[in-house]
Amino acid sequence: MTYKCVVCGRSPTVRSHIVPAAFARDLRDDEPNVVVVNPAEGSVKFSQSGEWHPGLLCDQHEQALGVFDDYGVRFARSLKTYGVTENTMAVSVKNDRPERLAGFALAVIWRWHWKHRLNIGESPLGPYESPLREHLLGSSPFPVSLIVTKPNVTIEGIPAPMAADPVRIRFAGRNSYILRFGVMDMIVRMDRNKWPAEIEAHDTSERSPAHVLIERTKDIRGIPAFRPLIERFGGTA
Ligand SMILES: [Zn+2]
Repeated sequence: MTYKCVVCGRSPTVRSHIVPAAFARDLRDDEPNVVVVNPAEGSVKFSQSGEWHPGLLCDQHEQALGVFDDYGVRFARSLKTYGVTENTMAVSVKNDRPERLAGFALAVIWRWHWKHRLNIGESPLGPYESPLREHLLGSSPFPVSLIVTKPNVTIEGIPAPMAADPVRIRFAGRNSYILRFGVMDMIVRMDRNKWPAEIEAHDTSERSPAHVLIERTKDIRGIPAFRPLIERFGGTA
């Protein structure tokens, strides 16, 4: 099958990782695979370098998104210094280019959208696709609200960074996505209606340094998104 770049229509296309492969490499450490949960389908995948698609983008456009990928990887790595905490706390994290951090989250959502559209014909982004593409690969603004947290997920008390596919949700009544990268979670509000003030207070889309919530330690069984994983291994959620 010959694919054409979804932006410019040119062939050939190159391998596009939905989430930069560095996340999977960092997460799996010495293990052969990383575990990725799909909360929407209730499925679990094992992957060496995370999910990718061969037919989204030409080399030029894949590289154009690389600046966001690199920034997101570096930012997530900088959160590793924050360890287990009993109470959720807010910290300030170096973030010289806030628009790139938001762009990283949006690039993941956009690629994930296209994977669905090419594979099963669904268009999860609907009317957001075109303005999002013009923002990421052009220069038009795309205002979002972004909340960044470092999850501290444990299994029987042992830290277990868990990744999951993007999930579209209504969060506090707003059109949002949750991205779980294992070492970092992001909640991205897509529509223009603000979240309630107590949530909006944690928006870091334009903050430098970034405002990040280091979450209190949570057992995996208390997180609904990871129920498929627990059931897969014969546990009860
Ligand atoms: Zn292209």
